Amino acid sequence: EEQGETSRMNAQLAITDLAPQSAAAREFLARRDHRMWIGGEGVQAVSVQRLETLNPATGSVLGTIPAGGAADVDRAVAAARAAFESPAWRDMTGAKRARLLWSIADALEAHMDELCELETLDQGKPLWVAKYAEVPGAIDQFRYFAGEATKIEGTTIPTSINYQPAGKKIFAYTAKEPIGVVGAIVPWNSPIVLTCMKIAPALAAGCTVVLKPAEDTSLTALRLAELLQEAGFPPGVLNVVTGLGERAGAALAAHPGVDKIAFTGSTEVGKLMLEAARGNLKKLTLELGGKSPAIVLPDADLELTIPGVANAIFFNSGQVCVAGSRLYVHEKIFDRVLEGVVAYARGIRLGHGLDPATQMGPVVSRKQADRIAGYIASGKQEGASVVAGGGQTGPAGTFIEPTVLVDVRPQMKVVREEIFGPVLSMIPFKDIDDAIAIANDTPYGLAAYLFTS
Ligand code: NAD
Repeated sequence: EEQGETSRMNAQLAITDLAPQSAAAREFLARRDHRMWIGGEGVQAVSVQRLETLNPATGSVLGTIPAGGAADVDRAVAAARAAFESPAWRDMTGAKRARLLWSIADALEAHMDELCELETLDQGKPLWVAKYAEVPGAIDQFRYFAGEATKIEGTTIPTSINYQPAGKKIFAYTAKEPIGVVGAIVPWNSPIVLTCMKIAPALAAGCTVVLKPAEDTSLTALRLAELLQEAGFPPGVLNVVTGLGERAGAALAAHPGVDKIAFTGSTEVGKLMLEAARGNLKKLTLELGGKSPAIVLPDADLELTIPGVANAIFFNSGQVCVAGSRLYVHEKIFDRVLEGVVAYARGIRLGHGLDPATQMGPVVSRKQADRIAGYIASGKQEGASVVAGGGQTGPAGTFIEPTVLVDVRPQMKVVREEIFGPVLSMIPFKDIDDAIAIANDTPYGLAAYLFTS
């Protein structure tokens, strides 16, 4: 009965469109048709095609971005290469790069309200998440890597080679040099922080970057490029090519002028990155998906554990690579934990990210919401029971109710595959060794949680 009530309530989820408070965010959005950023200026794509970028809470159009393709990637890589070879960047001391990185952190701080509101409107996340986690997290990347820019050191290596001529010594050393042009490809769940996690270390090392943000959430990356230039980075050090993954992203990953790809996203696309890197043996960093287990032992403090396991899956609408999406609870306390998590899930207030009362926003797009709803349907079909949530709601169909599934078996899709939404599978266990074995029975290996006293 209660579950029916929650579904009815959320089916009527009415969302009022809210405008940003910050004048700077309003000004940025008023540009409507945004440009890519290449060689230190905003440019149109070679193709006239544009992609709409939507506010997922309402489905309203926030603006458009250029649908970049291979020709745009060529231009951006050429700009990044020229910047890499220019004395203005190549000969810059580590100390100067450190100061620039620090000043971009200051600039982001000065633009905090604007960036948080843009991120919330573009991605859907509550403003408090942008304010306390995302933008401060992005700033911290620049402060941390500012410190690294002056500490890039090689080693000296003692050698003992048997054919070394008597009386001669060999001096062997390593010197670390920037790799060159780095292609950075990021997903849409935490756009600005994941973008800065790629850019800050690359710039600290003296590389230049071509960034391909996710097509659903490109706005803060475009603003970041402008702020970087204002902070004094030479033109071409950071370039942003917007567009679809299979066009702009694929062209970047395969480009012979790119020396390294730093990719964060799905495991499926990560495998394509391996293929694309073959051509010129690019270096690769892959940060991929997860299906992380949480284990609750009988001695756990349930007052801390219940909000802990609930936030592990419902934070950011479950769109977190390390989300605790499989919850294994000792059978002695299973019912109590279930009751607590279900009550927690039902109490979460869904809404527009700019509404201060909102605890959970929409997921990033209708496509993603439909994908999650498909997983919930498949779980039910395979025999799972929905004990909280389960519904898809909101004016654009982009809200997924915080969902708890029980009666799940290890082989079900909902247990094996990454859903990347607010859907928790709860499973009782008897013995800790069994729990560890089933927790590890997954192709993923990103994170794991243990609740115990
Ligand atoms: P995705 O793999 O679909 O897309 C990620 C990026 O790759 C986007 O910019 C996209 O445009 C681009 N892309 C898509 N197809 C491409 C192709 N053929 N060639 C080149 N680029 C391509 O992932 P997503 O759905 O945007 O993000 C969710 C995924 O990201 C989840 O699996 C999540 O776990 C993962 N993620 C991992 C981490 C981590 O640090 N491990 C952090 C956040 C998200």
